[in-house]
Amino acid sequence: METTRRGFLSAATLSTVGLVAAATGINSLTPNQADAAITASIKSGFDKAPGELEDFVFDIEHGSKGFISSAGTAKEATVEEFPVSQSIAGVSMRLNPGAFRELHWHSIAAEWAYVLEGKVRTTAITPDGTTSTDDFEVGDIWYFPRGHGHMLQCIGDKPCHFLLGFDNGHFSEFGTFSVTDWLSHTSPEILARNTGLPANLFASIPKKELYIGMGKIAAEAKPTNISSGIPISSSSHKFRMETDAILQEFKGGYTKIVSSKEFPIQNSLTALRMNLEPGAMRELHWHPNADEWQYVMSGQGNVSIFGSHGRVKTMPYGKGMVAFIKQGYGHYIENTGKETLKLIVLFNSSEYQELSLNHWLNSNPTQLVADHFGFSLKETSSLANHQTGIY
Ligand code: MN
Ligand code: MN
Repeated sequence: METTRRGFLSAATLSTVGLVAAATGINSLTPNQADAAITASIKSGFDKAPGELEDFVFDIEHGSKGFISSAGTAKEATVEEFPVSQSIAGVSMRLNPGAFRELHWHSIAAEWAYVLEGKVRTTAITPDGTTSTDDFEVGDIWYFPRGHGHMLQCIGDKPCHFLLGFDNGHFSEFGTFSVTDWLSHTSPEILARNTGLPANLFASIPKKELYIGMGKIAAEAKPTNISSGIPISSSSHKFRMETDAILQEFKGGYTKIVSSKEFPIQNSLTALRMNLEPGAMRELHWHPNADEWQYVMSGQGNVSIFGSHGRVKTMPYGKGMVAFIKQGYGHYIENTGKETLKLIVLFNSSEYQELSLNHWLNSNPTQLVADHFGFSLKETSSLANHQTGIY
């Protein structure tokens, strides 16, 4: 009996048992007493139940004050607004024709984005001294590694809307390292020495960060840079997710997964597009290696999570809302509306991993699974007939 139990104990629990053994002199106990000591030690672990599950859904469009101007808007979900989301922050950003999100970098997070509407141009500088200018359409994604300088610009005469994801929940879009913030707080003489331009040019610049500025409407033709001698980056910051990601179809929807295998520069995240048709459900599953962050593009649904200790919580969500599921927590999604539930999903790992409950049950002996729930063998056998994925 004791040997069997020990077989199930993790290394961490075993060390606890070791402490119990030292404290109680377990080696001098009878087998029954030793077994009771081990049971007590396991139970005391169970008794340290964490509190209730936190809220894991947040309305990014309406729940944060954000930035609003005639040039554009930015609404964010960081740990300030959405405390459960420690590993991923998100921003919904809109730029009007002529608007640009100024040259900046982030000291603590890489930036990922999915274009929802319109056309966006980005420029990026990388530490090897190369640069790139890329144009993005609906369904395209970009990735800028932490610290790399970049810029986002609406191109053409229609507004654009994109979802930004950052690989750190403590990152705020309103605390970035912006070029106007730096230059407007540095002496004109120093800037004159640094650039070769006259000091009086810098003396008249506004003494604050621009953040989202308004310029001339950018034409669709590729622009010319100040210097034509800077080489083009060989690592692409762009991936055409909607058109080029591998499609996996299920009875009730589909997924498209983009990990660092398909998009090498995206080395801290995996991205997923998922559709659930009306009435469909994404099966019970979990991810052993990553937290999951979701944004609802359209439709409505329920997300349900399981966090051990008998804790299960279900929350509804809809268009413009985000959800966060901690690494290893069991979960499923239901489309509860009349239209397709369209999700953009990020995982904070460059490799995609999932474990399906159905797949797991089916990989165990029929009698064993029957004994877990008190089912008959015949009932248990029919588990093999069910589908996996989205149905
Ligand atoms: Mn940025
Ligand atoms: Mn999942």
